[in-house]
Amino acid sequence: MKRILVTGGAGFIGSHLCTELLKEGNKVVCLDNLFTGSLENICHLMPDKNFEFVRHDITAPYKIEVDEIYNLACPASPPHYQYNAIKTIKTAVIGMINMLELAKACGAKILQASTSEVYGDPKIHPQPESYWGNVNPVGIRSCYDEGKRCAETLMADYHRQENVNTKTVRIFNTYGPNMAINDGRVISNFIIQALKNEDITIYGNGTQTRSFCYVEDLTEGLVKMMNSSLTGPVNLGNPSERTILNLAELIIELTLSKSKIVYKPLPADDPMQRQPDITLAKTHLGWEPKTDIINGLKQTIEYFRECI
Ligand code: NAD
Ligand code: UDP
Repeated sequence: MKRILVTGGAGFIGSHLCTELLKEGNKVVCLDNLFTGSLENICHLMPDKNFEFVRHDITAPYKIEVDEIYNLACPASPPHYQYNAIKTIKTAVIGMINMLELAKACGAKILQASTSEVYGDPKIHPQPESYWGNVNPVGIRSCYDEGKRCAETLMADYHRQENVNTKTVRIFNTYGPNMAINDGRVISNFIIQALKNEDITIYGNGTQTRSFCYVEDLTEGLVKMMNSSLTGPVNLGNPSERTILNLAELIIELTLSKSKIVYKPLPADDPMQRQPDITLAKTHLGWEPKTDIINGLKQTIEYFRECI
């Protein structure tokens, strides 16, 4: 039985990961400051004697004996990470140092939840791990993008200099149940708007693209990466790319909504296109997503129907 620390474990992806790791027979310590996560996401795990919740902020050091650390703690939606940009970059960078020091002290493997945002507004399409990205260092997304880039640097340096067993994954847009109602990302916004028959707010003209991965596929990839001999970075995402306008139309169709589409200004530095090249994950982890967008959206719509 492994002892595993999941930071950000009460969040959207973290709560699915905790569930999966417990199912596999591990002891899981979920550490979270509940900034964007919630106890509702993990309340079903509380009775499990192998599960423990600790309210803690990773910008402060934390001591525990564990075999593995999944570092997911960080607000991930643009409205949430821009709410307190300085706190976001502290979480990404100081939090990363604290977790790497912990990994070093107890000899644990550590996996960092990095992001496709390290590619910025990419000039290479689809994005392979070898691409260094096109990121504005002083824009409104920089606290997150540059924070995550610096965290990747720290992972690489603790591996080279301190021999820490590090694993970096670059997660592309992921969606599914347990996203917060006020999350602000596109899939949760569109589904909630559609279910309430309110206007669907497209930022810009809707021709920008994203590639959406269902959360169960993603968590399987995280566990495979932790159990592999790779250090990464490795892209994890669903290569099926679509425009934001197409996504809005699909959600209207699946919810039988009467919502109309309205257009709002595109936020600064909003990437125009994004699609993962997952050759590395396919070849070396034997991983690829299985859930198509229709099935994934149907399950997510059912979740939000219960929430609102
Ligand atoms: P989320 O906001 O639902 O989860 C983040 C969790 O971290 C929350 O529970 C929050 O309370 C916690 N947290 C934030 N700051 C903290 C701090 N200082 N100390 C302790 N806990 C803190 O977001 P998510 O979508 O589940 O994202 C999880 C991780 O995956 C993040 O690191 C994010 O950057 C990364 N990621 C997610 C996506 C995606 O599409 N969902 C894409 C790329 C990367
Ligand atoms: N978006 C939108 N309407 C919304 C929320 C987001 O049109 O209500 C757009 C956003 O401008 C971006 C895309 O959808 O082009 C994905 O946004 P999200 O915040 O989900 O993720 P990210 O931009 O970080 O990939």
